[in-house]
Amino acid sequence: MGPVVAVHGGAGRWSVSPEEEAHVRRALEGAVDAGLAAVARGNAVDAVVEAVAYMEDSGVFNAGVGSVYTVSGRVQMDAGVMDGASGRAGAVAAVEDVKNPVRLARYVLDATDHVLVVGEGARELARAAGLLTAKTAFYSDRKNEMFKRMRQETLAGRWHYKKVLEVARRLGVGDTVGAVALDRDGNLAAATSTGGVWLKLDGRVGDSPIPGAGFWADNSVGALSATGVGEVITITMASLRAAELMRAGLDVDAALRRAVDLVTERFGEDTIGLLGLDRKGRVAAAFNTAAMARAWGADKQVKRVALRRGDIWP
Ligand code: ASP
Repeated sequence: MGPVVAVHGGAGRWSVSPEEEAHVRRALEGAVDAGLAAVARGNAVDAVVEAVAYMEDSGVFNAGVGSVYTVSGRVQMDAGVMDGASGRAGAVAAVEDVKNPVRLARYVLDATDHVLVVGEGARELARAAGLLTAKTAFYSDRKNEMFKRMRQETLAGRWHYKKVLEVARRLGVGDTVGAVALDRDGNLAAATSTGGVWLKLDGRVGDSPIPGAGFWADNSVGALSATGVGEVITITMASLRAAELMRAGLDVDAALRRAVDLVTERFGEDTIGLLGLDRKGRVAAAFNTAAMARAWGADKQVKRVALRRGDIWP
């Protein structure tokens, strides 16, 4: 089996203009290409890191320079990566001024004995790894406008940002990015990166940097990356849950559906999307939102890009 790379750009509504949709599709394709190029030279971890870094740099998704703002107008990002061969993970949470949080997560994996680093320590690591960048990189006129509008709505009492589920439903959760990959040696890896949710409290951490919640990889089972309401995904440990369903014998498609169904039964629709890959290179996605931006590739080329529920996939 040759290398396989699959990516997602978040679950949500994806009710975008045709022009924006073209950007999303191009960014997904670019991410798959970046992952395939990396896995041709290296391994599954290289593939997921390069695919996710591409999406962080694209500005199209809620990750890296495209990240959304906290309630006080800051940009605080979460990211995690897992190596299915060693069973080790690296992650960072609520980091600021880091151009590629997924690269910092990998630095935690490679250069430390820890799994999750936050606060000043994460900033020091980012400095050591040469990953700090100017704050201005994370702000844009478009996001500033959205921030102003949402703050006004909040202040007018039309919705309350403390109720994460309501906020997420209202805004259409989404645009978090993730990748899963299989390399030629049969190693699996997963990575997820996000700016979180609009108007989250400063310091709020979602599922994306939590192993088992926002991502999981195990060479004997598969690799997973999650998107949706971070609080729900963390409480349900959705990625690990899907992996354990695969371990129990369900194929990747059935395992992801079951895991999403369990989350829906407990917390309702519009809460989660899962992307998965098994050790044979089979790709699957399941979501309880209107859409989930996703793509995959193998044999050095993009095989499919899909956005909505009815789109042909995989
Ligand atoms: N899961 C992310 C979070 O809650 C958001 C998303 O997937 O869009 O931080």
